Amino acid sequence: EDWAAAVAAVRSLPAGGRVLLICHVNPDGDALGSMLGFGLGLRRLGVRQLQATFPGPPEVPEPFRALPGLDLLVPAAQAIADPDLVLCFDAASESRLGDLVDRLDRAPAIVLDHHASNTRFGGIHLVDPAAAATSVVAERLLTRLGVPLDQEIAECLYVALATDTGSFRFDMTTPAVHEMAARLLATGIRPGEISRRIFDTRPFGAIRLYGEVLSRTTLDPAAAGGHGMVWTYATQDDLARHGQRPYVLEPLIDSVRCAAEADVSCVVKQTGTREWAVSMRSKGAVDVSRVAVALGGGGHRLAAGFTGRGTAHEVAAAIRDELDTALIDPEVPGQAGV
Ligand code: 5GP
Ligand code: MN
Ligand code: MN
Repeated sequence: EDWAAAVAAVRSLPAGGRVLLICHVNPDGDALGSMLGFGLGLRRLGVRQLQATFPGPPEVPEPFRALPGLDLLVPAAQAIADPDLVLCFDAASESRLGDLVDRLDRAPAIVLDHHASNTRFGGIHLVDPAAAATSVVAERLLTRLGVPLDQEIAECLYVALATDTGSFRFDMTTPAVHEMAARLLATGIRPGEISRRIFDTRPFGAIRLYGEVLSRTTLDPAAAGGHGMVWTYATQDDLARHGQRPYVLEPLIDSVRCAAEADVSCVVKQTGTREWAVSMRSKGAVDVSRVAVALGGGGHRLAAGFTGRGTAHEVAAAIRDELDTALIDPEVPGQAGV
């Protein structure tokens, strides 16, 4: 990790230097929270020419529309073409940055990330696979830059940390994670209010949509060498009938993965005529990032995704075919655990 280079790159910004912050397509709480929290920190340092953006549709999911720092956001089409410094958040590979990748070649680029599958693109790497969220890396860099936490920065970093740890439930919820959460909470932010907004507020139509999509969940007990796979799909027509935006489907994987009979769970979400965004989770028998990489995507051992082609059932069949080669062998060093 290039901490000294990252600090030097920020400190050597010329007066009036232009900074562009980018995060991955279809941003989640960690992508937006770490990017905006860090952006607010740069603003405290006196950086004035500051933009944040992400590729694809410039729509911020409703649960994140109260995040501090949203005024930093611009549509990708309007993002500074020739910044003096680029910072990239929560993206494991350039493919997650769409057309914004060209910015990485035009200025020093600091990549903050925590995916083990990170391809080490960009010039300055702050990539820590042991970090529970990219916001952990972002907080470290803010500290090294001497930026104190305030409530706005803390709320952004807290949303990022809470989303990526599944509200402090996953195995990477280490003492250090709780210590960071304690530092953030000490600023006075309200965890109950934030959690209700992020995790527990959905439009009524989304509840009806969840009912329909969950009712077609399928269990395949023989998949993954008998560890089992459970999956469902949602079409663009489902969304239209219930008047819902695609991001309302994100929490569904957390319901599907509850099925006790399956180690692997998937939600296949239609994004085009024959195109699907796939979310996969594992309880530990399968390394789903290997499945995702084999099918053109990426992610973590226990949470990964890719873009699938064909019908939903064809996508599910393709996943099933990859599961047997992605079984985790607890005897092989480095394969067991998270
Ligand atoms: P989610 O299911 O929450 O969308 O994504 C879980 C994990 O898989 C995330 O850490 C994300 O980085 C990764 N991921 C999801 N979709 C894709 C994809 O299309 N390509 C790549 N490279 N990674 C993905
Ligand atoms: Mn993410
Ligand atoms: Mn993340």
